[in-house]
Amino acid sequence: MAEAIDTDHLPRGDGAVLLANATLPSAVTAGILNHIGDGLGRADILIDKGEIAAIAPCGELIDHDGAARIDLDGGLVLPGMVDMHTHLDKGHIWARRPNPDGTFSGALEAVRSDREAHWSADDVRRRMAFALQCAHAQGTVLMRTHLDSIPPQDAISWDVFKDVRRDWADRIDLQASALFGVDSLEDPAFLPAIADRVAEAGGVLGAVTFMIDGLETHVEAMFRAAESRGLALDFHVDETADPNADSLRIIAETAIRTRFSGQVVCGHCCSLARQSDAAVDQTLDLVARAGIGVVSLPLCNMYLMDRLSGRTPRWRGVTLLHEMKARGIPVAVASDNTRDPFYAYGDLDMVEVYAQAVRILHLDHPSGDWIRAATSTPAALLGDGTRGRIDVGSPADLLVFRARNWNELIARPGGARTVLRGGRAISRTLPDYRELDDLMGT
Ligand SMILES: [Zn+2]
Repeated sequence: MAEAIDTDHLPRGDGAVLLANATLPSAVTAGILNHIGDGLGRADILIDKGEIAAIAPCGELIDHDGAARIDLDGGLVLPGMVDMHTHLDKGHIWARRPNPDGTFSGALEAVRSDREAHWSADDVRRRMAFALQCAHAQGTVLMRTHLDSIPPQDAISWDVFKDVRRDWADRIDLQASALFGVDSLEDPAFLPAIADRVAEAGGVLGAVTFMIDGLETHVEAMFRAAESRGLALDFHVDETADPNADSLRIIAETAIRTRFSGQVVCGHCCSLARQSDAAVDQTLDLVARAGIGVVSLPLCNMYLMDRLSGRTPRWRGVTLLHEMKARGIPVAVASDNTRDPFYAYGDLDMVEVYAQAVRILHLDHPSGDWIRAATSTPAALLGDGTRGRIDVGSPADLLVFRARNWNELIARPGGARTVLRGGRAISRTLPDYRELDDLMGT
């Protein structure tokens, strides 16, 4: 992986370093920038004792005592990335359980059979660790994973998650949300049991919502279970082309009616893009009023939606991020699945996700503050407003690129990049797929 700067020039230990002539996105930077257009500005960044010590106009900090000076020559600097919707428990099973036809129903069945056959604690733990190595090397600092939580898998995966969260605490802040079909609530014993498990693990309550009889009752039960335990909520919502799927509206109405005090996140919301303008307006007004955040998963959605064998897809599968943002709804993009039946590809690289999101969702011309969707907005939705920003006093967790502007970054997202954690360059070596061969039966 090509580095953006000569990491041999970085000081060892806590020594200070001046990153001179950096290009920074003003939307996520607290400091004085010389604005150069399209949401970007130039500044020097002083790093001392692993923290961002100063951000100042170019040239002002040049005499800082003993700081090594690295001229970025306009290289772009981004904060450590935030990936708020992943599936680490499903990840990297493609080699043993591909999706036979690439469809959503094919994915559901393939994952179910793989889970029942293979998801021991050791299997889940090793694939999670592999995935986290990828995310860390790419520059992700904060992540939420969903965990399939149908018994008996819930007991296995939540215990593994707690171990993995502890093992990785010095590199990635990891959160987990429960995942199950909302029809699981037809068993009255199910919800209290999983909500207690989630609360005990410090997790988030979540489900897949789809249009079944009694959906309103089930959604309200989830809000009440979350409220009574102080949990946030994270739903998989309307991941379908069917315009009649409007569980997003039901979730928003329930949040308002129950005066829910926690953060609610809704992922996917694909069907919204298939509804009438009047229906969209009504639902988005409710979503804004309810304070719900929305995360789009553009790589996975474009892979799964509108897929029929032998027929070219006719729509992109993504939800209405521009319309949501215009209403003040917090919007984010994230990885979703990686190398599993829901998405055959992906490497937990939020720079790739952002670059693809820009292309798929037209987050450009101007780029403006859209970078918030991969940094500060998901951080806030995950309850950590200090992440996803470049602030004086924060850890120097930064991505440094040779690319000097949005165009150069989006055109070549795999271009030269250095990842700094606490001001030090980390290894960008990605784990080899061969490490998982024994789990794949190959
Ligand atoms: Zn998902």
